[in-house]
Amino acid sequence: MAVYNTASDSANTAVRAFLTKVGEYYLGHSFNTGSGKGKALWLQIRDQDFDSSCAYCGEKHDKLQIEHVLMFNRTEYGLHHPGNTIPCCKACNKRERLEDKTYCNWVQHLERVCEARGEINSFAKRKNMILANFKKHNYPELNTNEKHAIGVIANSLYENIKTESDKSLELYKRLDEAFVR
Ligand SMILES: [Zn+2]
Repeated sequence: MAVYNTASDSANTAVRAFLTKVGEYYLGHSFNTGSGKGKALWLQIRDQDFDSSCAYCGEKHDKLQIEHVLMFNRTEYGLHHPGNTIPCCKACNKRERLEDKTYCNWVQHLERVCEARGEINSFAKRKNMILANFKKHNYPELNTNEKHAIGVIANSLYENIKTESDKSLELYKRLDEAFVR
């Protein structure tokens, strides 16, 4: 939980809630990894399909985090969907930026992790496990129009929430002047 909450935090949360809804729309049911059916599904991915190991470095961990392979934000529009979720250790759950300041995509990230560990021989195997997870859970293959539509809505949501959040202070100032003083 963030200690210092900014307007961008709320805007990003709104975008993630939207990407969760779209993921669940394709899945046909909810995917709450914290309880019930969603949790059971997540634990199956983490402990059986990925053998309680980080999908990037291959190390076993007892505190694996949920990683969205296609990033869960308004640049990659990854959906919250079992096909897009893999276990990841804390160290690997941080993507580097490329020269143009954008983040590495998951293939570039995996390659960097394997390279840094001197395990480039494991790259293809780990990549195939992640691809198999997309396939096993029928992750939707969105066409260009669908991706574009998700992008437009996500960006509009982001801008609207950010603007509303900034406007709230102005509103408070006006009310404060009108009623309190
Ligand atoms: Zn790792």
